[in-house]
Amino acid sequence: MTEKKPNVIVVGGGAAGMVASLFAARAGAAVTLLEKNEKLGKKVYITGKGRCNLTNDCDLDTFLSQVPRNPRFLYTALSFFSPQDMMALLESAGCPVTVQRGRRVFPASEKASDVTRALASLMRQSGVDVRLNTAVRSLETLPSEEGGRRVAAVLTKDGERIPADSVILCTGGVSFPATGSTGDGYRFAEAAGHTVLPRSPVLVGLDTVETWPCSLQGLSLRNVTLTLSRGKKVLYTELGEMLFTHFGVSGPLVLEASCHLPEDLSKASLRIDLKPGLTPEQLDARLLRDFAASGKKLLPTELASLLPASLAGIFPQLCGLPESLRCNQVTAEQRRCLAETLKALPLTIRSTGPLSGAIVTRGGVSVREVDPSSMRSRLLPNLFFAGELLDVDAHTGGYNLQIAWSTGALAGQNAAEV
Ligand SMILES: Cc1cc2nc3c(=O)[nH]c(=O)nc-3n(C[C@H](O)[C@H](O)[C@H](O)COP(=O)(O)OP(=O)(O)OC[C@H]3O[C@@H](n4cnc5c(N)ncnc54)[C@H](O)[C@@H]3O)c2cc1C
Repeated sequence: MTEKKPNVIVVGGGAAGMVASLFAARAGAAVTLLEKNEKLGKKVYITGKGRCNLTNDCDLDTFLSQVPRNPRFLYTALSFFSPQDMMALLESAGCPVTVQRGRRVFPASEKASDVTRALASLMRQSGVDVRLNTAVRSLETLPSEEGGRRVAAVLTKDGERIPADSVILCTGGVSFPATGSTGDGYRFAEAAGHTVLPRSPVLVGLDTVETWPCSLQGLSLRNVTLTLSRGKKVLYTELGEMLFTHFGVSGPLVLEASCHLPEDLSKASLRIDLKPGLTPEQLDARLLRDFAASGKKLLPTELASLLPASLAGIFPQLCGLPESLRCNQVTAEQRRCLAETLKALPLTIRSTGPLSGAIVTRGGVSVREVDPSSMRSRLLPNLFFAGELLDVDAHTGGYNLQIAWSTGALAGQNAAEV
């Protein structure tokens, strides 16, 4: 007599859910994946600006050093299914990958949709039953024979009851809600008795007290150094690219800096070194030479040889100088002030941008109540968690998606063995 396959229900067809369903099916379960959107991987589609920085080709220790929140919780998941395993899985499905600067991994086509397509094709081959446009409303739990409770079924918004031997929640965080991550899983976890920690944005733009960045909205600065400090203590400093927005600042350097913000934002400050390749003395000598050669030229016009024109236009004001100042009128003290501001343009942080616009949600299902060796709930023996729903998050570089792939793989494998 053939043994009945366990029924595994995966809730959410994002990064974690796709891999969880694949691993559960490969481990012998009858898997149904319920996704409320009309397609799989809507958030994956917009990752890495549509290029999908799908993982980071680094070793385990390096990976864990990029996870500020609960890194040890991920040890087994990342050992079970590593970045290199994910790269091989995609290659096996006809989606070659390429490793770029900072060991960031992308599909060779640089199309995020190819990653989802490859995973969907593997899921199909393994017999995963994907049900799109199917939103889950709640989990039905019943007292279990061993005492405590277990999940008996998943109830959909359309009123359908789908019996389950085990359930994997992969509903994501609450950022970019248009992609489907609207926090439903937190509600399901809480109803099951789990602790859900407060959510906050990470990898997010910053609102500034100064209003001048708004006037430069859309301007991107390359090869600048951004430094985040608390008092004299430097919390983050890096060379790269940033962007002025309608609320303040964003772009890669700012998103990364947002991971290092102190609790009390009033003590934090930002400064931009607009000319990191020059020492203050070299810069002062360059200004002296340029101003001498430029005579009656207006200061903003001359500064446009050093800065983007829109920033050069307001730069004298940022140094407390009139924009009508001409090069041959600049005093030595004013020149020093210009040089100092070019090396350390200050910004005051008012707040982080909204959670809905963050790349990642911090907080969520407390990892204390989840077994790291299986992703199984410590409260309900047939409930599993994977992905951003959990209280783990990482820096930029492909780490957040890999957390979803790895926790999804481990949850899928174990959910099939209940
Ligand atoms: C703009 C942007 C760019 C990013 N770029 C990168 C990057 O390049 N590299 C990287 O590593 N990370 C990146 N991230 C982060 C990464 O996308 C997430 O960490 C990752 O997608 C989390 O995977 P997940 O499966 O946990 O959640 P999600 O991918 O959000 O998937 C959750 C799924 O659950 C479904 N769902 C929710 N509730 C229900 C319900 N009640 N019933 C049925 N289905 C439901 C949703 O519709 C959704 O499809 C980026 C994020 C954003 C917003």
